[in-house]
Amino acid sequence: MRPGGAVVRWRGAVPAAAAVRKVDVTSKGRTVGEVLVFLPLDRPLVAWLTRKTDLGDRRRIGLARAGNLVDAERTLRIQSGTLQANADDIRLGGLGYRAVAEDLGGSPSRVKLVTLERSSYIDSQANTARWRVMGVGFGLIAALLALAYAVSPSIARSRVSRQERARAERVLARVGDGVFLVDRDGVIQLWNPAAEAITGLRADAVCNRPAEETIPGWPAVAARIPVARRPGDADDASSAETVPLDVGGREVWLSIVGVTLDDGTVYAFRDVTRERRLEELRSQFVATISHELRTPLASLHGAALTLLEREHDLSAPTQHDLLDMIAVQSRRLADLVEEILVAGQLDSGSLTVVTEPFDPEELVWTAAAAARLRVGDDTTIDVSIPALMPKVVGDPGRTRQVLMNLVDNAIKYSPRGGRIELGVEADDVHARFTVRDEGLGIPLGEQERIFEKFYRLDPDHRRGIGGSGLGLYICRELVRSMNGRIWVESDPGQGATFTFELPVAGRVTAPA
Ligand code: ADP
Repeated sequence: MRPGGAVVRWRGAVPAAAAVRKVDVTSKGRTVGEVLVFLPLDRPLVAWLTRKTDLGDRRRIGLARAGNLVDAERTLRIQSGTLQANADDIRLGGLGYRAVAEDLGGSPSRVKLVTLERSSYIDSQANTARWRVMGVGFGLIAALLALAYAVSPSIARSRVSRQERARAERVLARVGDGVFLVDRDGVIQLWNPAAEAITGLRADAVCNRPAEETIPGWPAVAARIPVARRPGDADDASSAETVPLDVGGREVWLSIVGVTLDDGTVYAFRDVTRERRLEELRSQFVATISHELRTPLASLHGAALTLLEREHDLSAPTQHDLLDMIAVQSRRLADLVEEILVAGQLDSGSLTVVTEPFDPEELVWTAAAAARLRVGDDTTIDVSIPALMPKVVGDPGRTRQVLMNLVDNAIKYSPRGGRIELGVEADDVHARFTVRDEGLGIPLGEQERIFEKFYRLDPDHRRGIGGSGLGLYICRELVRSMNGRIWVESDPGQGATFTFELPVAGRVTAPA
């Protein structure tokens, strides 16, 4: 058979390199002959395949047998390399090729059909491809660099803004003023640590929740807060407002101002509770002192005028009463001035207090005797002292001042008289002085506050009992300066017991 399918008769031996098929011819069960068809694996076949496959100039087809390769034009020796199904390099006629070979089965002489392509061409194609890939890579890098160059200002800007944000957060976390942000929907978006500390409301309890639900009385408070368009706006609307806030049963006064933002309002506030309380006390003090001065001054003025104008008309007892009134009222004025002076010295730290052992018993007896001179028949002054008393360490003059102040109050705040008891007792560490009365008493909620400066239960003098509100403040500060403490126990309407304790000297003395 010829390439292309033409069958021709063949005379002679079957060539060694040929694809052979043999078919038996049978008739009535007997073999009567055979037909042998073969295709010679030779150059005409290669030439025909080369034409048919149209591989172009660079590729060729050949038949390999016994170390030679027969192509359409010539036969060449395979100088190196092996022919196999996977592409491999071979050398042929002094040139390098990449070859793929396929066994032509059935052929006893192991002929292979081979396709070849010049290695130099493949390498140049690979190089071109590599350069193309590298070119694309470089192009990509250049494009990326250009892009980076183009966007770097905005990257830098975003980095700067990130840094600025971090710095702002640090500042907000450390600033002493409370700062919070309420968005347009009335939801709290920010609550800094100072806001937590001042109000006692934790950030996680208020953030992302409506201000109306979390800040007590917010709608009323918010209506009073001036909101400026820019921070530090000088117009009247932007000056801070002082508002009260009731948090957890505690009244906190805040000086607060707001500034509008695009997405809400930022509020800044500081705690002015102390200043507010001092302000209240100061105005109370002015009212109290004016009242305290006016009463004795009016009495003094009246008594002095009467004595001047009607000296000869007045009986001796009346003149004596008027002079007595002058003495009492001037004493009251002097005491008041002394109280104001001592309070001032305590505030400035210039009050001197000596520390020495003294006899507490003697002090109590002296105070009781002085008190007896000033009370009417409706009041009794008793003393209670144990048999043995240690000496006390402190300032005897200041201790007497404290004791006298407490006794004065006991008399003053027992308008219907009653029994007043002075006492002192001691353990190994402290001596405890007590002044007990049966007077008006002090409500539980006020028992701490009466020791504050200027604090009075009856600031408007409705009960008609005068006072500056300085006495117990002075007592507390004097006792503290002698390393002691003072407190009160009282049932309103049943009287009060004031106690102060001072350190004992550690040596027990027998009563005189
Ligand atoms: P004042 O000059 O008003 O007496 P104090 O500081 O001595 O000032 O006392 C403060 C307040 O404590 C008084 O205004 C009074 O309301 C109350 N107080 C003091 N002592 C007594 C007492 N023995 N009984 C009842 N109330 C008292």
